[in-house]
Amino acid sequence: MRQETASKSDYLGERAIVVGGGIAGLSAARVLSDRFRQVVILDRDELPDSATPRSGVPQGKHPHGLLAGGLKALERLFPGFGNELIQAGAVPVDRGFDVLYAVAGQDPWPRIKLDEPTYCFLNLTRPLLELTLCNHVARLTNVNVRGGCRILNIIAEAGTGAATDICFRTSEGKLETLHADLIIDASGNGSLTLEFLKATRRRLPEETSIGVNMHYASALVEDVVIKDDYKVAYTLPDAPEDTRGGLLMPGENGTYQLVLISRGEHTPPIRESEFRSFARMLWTPTIYNAIKHAKFLTGITPATFSHSKWRHFAQISDFPRGLLPIGDAICRFNPVYGQGMSTAAREAGLLFELLGRSSDDLLSTLAADFLTKTEDIIADPWAMSAVPDFIYPDTTGVRPKNLEELLNFQKGLGQLAARDADVFEKLTDVRHLLLPLSVLDDSSIVSRVEKELASELSL
Ligand SMILES: Cc1cc2nc3c(=O)[nH]c(=O)nc-3n(C[C@H](O)[C@H](O)[C@H](O)COP(=O)(O)OP(=O)(O)OC[C@H]3O[C@@H](n4cnc5c(N)ncnc54)[C@H](O)[C@@H]3O)c2cc1C
Repeated sequence: MRQETASKSDYLGERAIVVGGGIAGLSAARVLSDRFRQVVILDRDELPDSATPRSGVPQGKHPHGLLAGGLKALERLFPGFGNELIQAGAVPVDRGFDVLYAVAGQDPWPRIKLDEPTYCFLNLTRPLLELTLCNHVARLTNVNVRGGCRILNIIAEAGTGAATDICFRTSEGKLETLHADLIIDASGNGSLTLEFLKATRRRLPEETSIGVNMHYASALVEDVVIKDDYKVAYTLPDAPEDTRGGLLMPGENGTYQLVLISRGEHTPPIRESEFRSFARMLWTPTIYNAIKHAKFLTGITPATFSHSKWRHFAQISDFPRGLLPIGDAICRFNPVYGQGMSTAAREAGLLFELLGRSSDDLLSTLAADFLTKTEDIIADPWAMSAVPDFIYPDTTGVRPKNLEELLNFQKGLGQLAARDADVFEKLTDVRHLLLPLSVLDDSSIVSRVEKELASELSL
């Protein structure tokens, strides 16, 4: 496939700066390199030249998978990317055949091969994905990656309040400022954008927040045997009574990424013997059995994820020219659903489309267009993760008024997917962000789900 490039008839500006060399920042830099004479990526970390976790991205020690929809988005920006990842050790997983979902009270789903040749579910460690992206971006002649640069603040133009410069401290302790026609906040936490809005006396975005108080404990292991030759095993908690679950998925070179999950007061242990005992308490023995003879290659790393958070920047009608947040800086999803990197990649794809348009002054409308359309990109994955999170009574946030109906529908859909190949395929593609959630509102599916729920009631 040929690399798609936006029209280069005119550069939009001399320089774009990207704060953060994570998945969102690297993908955005690739897009910007078509339309700016120079692109500078600044990260507080030195970006490693091997696939190793780094301190600026602490989640890099925890399992990561790239949904098929995320790979599709990255393929568009980096043609051949999936194959390159596979060559580097990523494991292609057929989302319909290789994944064992254990959902308490539901029949097992069928095994149906769904892979298109290019857009599979890729299992790989987060450092490998980032390294491969970084190598691609480093090959672009007009992109400069500078590690060891901590951004302190974004500077506004007097009078207009546009974002024009960035102030940062280098690893040698030197303060520098750099001018840019466009600054992308891909810092993960987005506080630079919030501080800039405050400093320029703009309103702050409303936030939709869901308190999940989720705990992870993860390790890299080897010598794993998942039953029936599945490549991935998810044990979803027997909610709402039990909050314990687990996930086992391949990493590179025969390794497996293993995480045990819980919520609230029960944190998964980080000592190996207790960790194994915790695995034994899951409602299905699949993961415990799979790791019975496994060797732990790393220590067990804990993490707590307190809130999913979606900042609605599109509401700010005077959003500053010259600034765009992207990725986790806009929305952080509950990691259990594995949507964050794919959503960041899809947002970079949107940026690609918007920057490819011709207009006399593209930068004046870019933020409004990008932030509005990003709301659409986020809405589906957000809905898919928010609704099941509300099954727990201690989840905080505004519950949808029809929560019970939505939870019931999801239950019926899962049950129907166990018997109906068409529904199984659609549901799987929706979860992988290949199809919009609205395909499941199709009247024929809704009526089949209703029948399913009615027959359950009559039993
Ligand atoms: C435990 C866990 C498991 C997850 N599992 C998955 C999964 O399986 N699949 C999936 O798709 N997603 C997963 N996610 C989510 C995923 O990690 C994020 O959505 C994704 O990393 C967001 O990318 P980003 O580039 O927006 O931000 P980040 O990856 O956080 O990158 C931000 C970058 O900005 C830099 N930075 C920050 N502040 C500054 C500053 N002031 N100056 C300079 N540099 C700065 C950081 O060093 C970092 O490099 C998981 C998240 C967690 C917490």
